[in-house]
Amino acid sequence: MITLNLTLPDAGYPIHIGQGLLDQPDLLLPLLASDKVAIVTNEVVAPLYLARLVDALRTRGIAVVPIVLPDGEDHKDWQTLNHIFDVLLAERCERSTTLIALGGGVVGDMTGFAAACYQRGVPFIQIPTTLLAQVDSSVGGKTAINHPQGKNMIGAFYQPRAVIADMRLLDSLPDRELSAGLAEVIKYGLLGDAEFFAWLEAHIDALRARDMTALEYAVRRCCEMKADIVGQDEKETGVRALLNLGHTFGHAIEAGLGFGTWLHGEAVAAGMVLAAATSHALGWLQDSDLARIRALISAAGLPIQAPDLGVEQWLTLMSHDKKVHQGKIRLVLLQQIGKAVIEETLPRAILDDVLSGPHI
Ligand code: NAD
Ligand code: MG
Repeated sequence: MITLNLTLPDAGYPIHIGQGLLDQPDLLLPLLASDKVAIVTNEVVAPLYLARLVDALRTRGIAVVPIVLPDGEDHKDWQTLNHIFDVLLAERCERSTTLIALGGGVVGDMTGFAAACYQRGVPFIQIPTTLLAQVDSSVGGKTAINHPQGKNMIGAFYQPRAVIADMRLLDSLPDRELSAGLAEVIKYGLLGDAEFFAWLEAHIDALRARDMTALEYAVRRCCEMKADIVGQDEKETGVRALLNLGHTFGHAIEAGLGFGTWLHGEAVAAGMVLAAATSHALGWLQDSDLARIRALISAAGLPIQAPDLGVEQWLTLMSHDKKVHQGKIRLVLLQQIGKAVIEETLPRAILDDVLSGPHI
């Protein structure tokens, strides 16, 4: 096991990465504020892993309230959040009850938001069970639910007390979800670490074959970068926005096709190709860079061709994104592989060309 630390001005927390961590309650016990926890999970993850965690805690004298939510992004809503509160109240959970999120990003985001709100804030711990959650959503304290008018529109910045990433939980993850997580992994290489990008090119087959050593290294490198970026800019007023590489295009794909048609990671993958194509059109990336990016994304089992939404719909959807700042589309682009920048003055003509070009 390795432990990273996310350092914030007023707090910080450990990120443990290793194999078999679910069976090590000693990692959790010192973090609990009392001898009672509520474990929030969903109906897919519960049959796989809930009993192991519950047993490990109960044998140590911890009272456990399990809360099993319906699966899926469709349920990342007010009703499901309220169900968490209903159970917490019925079970007389107090301010010292720790919430544990056992699941992917949907469970993690909802549990974190519930923890931020319940009795004005209770401690919470993330045990991410998808690759996407391990490299991205469990770290950094963004929590939210969706509103019918927009994804992640209601939420809070609320940091966990710890993140425990057990690589073995990925054994049961469907291949398509693993690839979706790899999109975010590739994103880290592209935005800030050319050497890691090259390592990914050499290890993409091992990662897809779930070589644990390779996966563990990838999760570690991504968490190091995310912890570093969030440590500099917790509330996304500056450098944290670089983590949105591919996401403005990606969110347009998700919304344009209807949420859930493409997985988030798939939309981000095609979105990163469009960000790279835009950077290429500006003369920043070489032909060979664009080819490398497309090849790696494709080798990860991800789409490199975006759906044809029509330029007008693309622009409308992109301007609805949360990343819009004072009416201007703000894009994260690449000066080179491993160096992302925020661009706010992109000529409209370049975007028009890319959105009607060969990558659509
Ligand atoms: P998810 O939570 O829906 O999980 C994907 C699927 O895999 C689900 O069906 C889930 O039940 C299943 N699953 C989870 N773990 C499993 C396992 N170990 N074995 C088998 N099946 C398993 O999706 P996700 O990709 O993990 O997360 C996406 C969510 O994360 C979105 O709602 C997104 O908005 C959010 N997100 C948040 C942040 C953040 O910073 N807070 C960052 C990125 C994404
Ligand atoms: Mg993302």
